[in-house]
Amino acid sequence: MTRRKISILGATGSVGTSTLDLIERQPDRFEVVALTAAKKVDALGDAAIRTGAKLAVIDDPALLAELERRLDGSSCRAAAGREALAEAAAGEADLVMAAIVGCAGLEPVMSAIEAGRTVALANKESLVTAGQLMIAAARRSGTTILPVDSEHNAIFQCLADNRSCDVAKLVLTASGGPFRSWTRDQMASVTPDQAVAHPNWSMGAKISVDSATMMNKGLELIEAHHLFGVPSDRMDVLVHPQSVVHSMVEYVDGSVLAQLGSPDMRIPIAYALSWPERMETPALRLDLARIGSLSFEAPDLDRFPALRVARDALEAGGATPIILNAANEEAVASFLARRIGFLDIIRTVEEALARTDAAAPRSIAEVIDIDRKARALAQDLMSEMAA
Ligand code: NAD
Ligand code: MG
Repeated sequence: MTRRKISILGATGSVGTSTLDLIERQPDRFEVVALTAAKKVDALGDAAIRTGAKLAVIDDPALLAELERRLDGSSCRAAAGREALAEAAAGEADLVMAAIVGCAGLEPVMSAIEAGRTVALANKESLVTAGQLMIAAARRSGTTILPVDSEHNAIFQCLADNRSCDVAKLVLTASGGPFRSWTRDQMASVTPDQAVAHPNWSMGAKISVDSATMMNKGLELIEAHHLFGVPSDRMDVLVHPQSVVHSMVEYVDGSVLAQLGSPDMRIPIAYALSWPERMETPALRLDLARIGSLSFEAPDLDRFPALRVARDALEAGGATPIILNAANEEAVASFLARRIGFLDIIRTVEEALARTDAAAPRSIAEVIDIDRKARALAQDLMSEMAA
């Protein structure tokens, strides 16, 4: 069998290293072409040498000499900067794993799509900010976008072999995060360490904070809308603390299909890597007798307003989701740096949305311009709050 050629954008992160883990277990099935990272030059160099990658790209040009030194004597080429990142994304791979965090992943994802590469998409912020443009570009280049986010991967699996016109609604499950049963007063003094300690999933810091505010589920509603073409009023969120049911599709006849598994990102990643086939993974098998019971509850929008704010942004459309995402990225980074409190994250996002009025973007350049201005506004708002 010919080996599937894979490139990984964001190879040193949580999704990136899980992808490498799967690939390195099956060297007769996969071949690594290009790997990229923002700053972790050691981890990037090691992974490139281990996997025999042809190209390693570090985003920060100041780290290029260090990367070259690490790759000295290997057949892997070192490169740096945004152009090299675009080259890694558009290169010869059969599948590009898009695992950069944040809107920073948008341009590389677009390069991969425009080059007609099949994209395994973890980078939800790219769809949130530029969903329409991305889906249109994928149609033009005839490429497939395979969802990696566990909920969207679950829905993708539940939609297989069914007609989309028979779908009544999508149900996205949410763990509820570490503060699921906390009051707003308790949440006011949450620390970054508490917020990134997710009860079920091990993930990067940004998405862990998003899970704690439940902004993550809001971003996922917008993501699902673009991936599956379903409007807001046919998508529900259901809190399910055990994270065993990863999402569901309800059909017009009342049938509900769900995808289950232990909470291990290697399962949805493997599905994207091997699609339309399946591959073995080391993930823990699901033992429902041991788990005993699964529970479900409606989300509490008063304690987790981010979910409502994100749904409103989806319904408003245009530039609103870009502003939502940009303000959230800036606020989460400030919270992680201990400059603002946990509840200030959603305050910043709501205030940024209230103060901006941008037209719908017609190009990726316009998306990036709106994103940049919304980030500056969010920074001003946070300085005002601190004053
Ligand atoms: P992470 O922070 O662990 O890793 C991010 C990766 O992106 C790193 O390799 C980093 O070097 C790179 N990166 C960061 N900023 C960059 C920049 N400006 N330019 C170029 N590269 C940059 O993040 P993660 O948890 O792996 O999440 C990645 C994406 O996948 C996010 O969009 C997240 O929402 C999504 N996702 C993650 C999980 C999970 O379990 N971690 C689950 C579902 C979806
Ligand atoms: Mg998810």
